[in-house]
Amino acid sequence: MKVKRLLGYGMESNVYLILDEKVVMIDTGTGFEHEELMEEVKEIVSPDKIDYVIITHEHFDHCGGVKKIKEETMAEIMMHEIAAEIVESGNSIYASFFGASQEKCSVDVKFRGGEVLNIGEGKLKIIYTPGHSPGSISIYEERSRTLFSGDTVFSGGYVGRTDFYGGDINALGKSILKLAELNVETLCPGHGEMVENGGEHIRMALFYLNLL
Ligand SMILES: [Zn+2]
Repeated sequence: MKVKRLLGYGMESNVYLILDEKVVMIDTGTGFEHEELMEEVKEIVSPDKIDYVIITHEHFDHCGGVKKIKEETMAEIMMHEIAAEIVESGNSIYASFFGASQEKCSVDVKFRGGEVLNIGEGKLKIIYTPGHSPGSISIYEERSRTLFSGDTVFSGGYVGRTDFYGGDINALGKSILKLAELNVETLCPGHGEMVENGGEHIRMALFYLNLL
């Protein structure tokens, strides 16, 4: 299993490609940079080889591009059921912050947390981690000890904002405590760089939140 980080500049979230027997994209960015993103993808894999697109949460900088990606890749679109409500209805207050609208897109798989996706060598475990937003998930691959944390926790122990609609600092703390139980080597956050010794970064977050 290999992981590549794409996009992730300006207002765009990181987009990850997981290369295994199945090819998985995590998050899509806003869609404003769709062409640029697809150029980056094509340097690694043909877009029609992408099997699954997993969205970490319902904020526009992570899922605004999902409809274009679905049309271009025909991949199955997956996210938490709360995030799916927003993507399927197109009724997103988060998009309006960007002066944009969330294009309606049907969601193929709606998670509640606890699901496991077999992708070949790797198995992706879906962990429900609300707090930054109600529909936030993190994705953990045990064998490679890789965690995709969305905007729940970042490198350096920074944590996601909780002042957006639906944010909840107590829920965020509980979610990060849950992530601290995992054995994390590589942390792949929704913004900023991927880092090694991910568990240390998660413990730093608990320290800043006074939960350690
Ligand atoms: Zn966010």
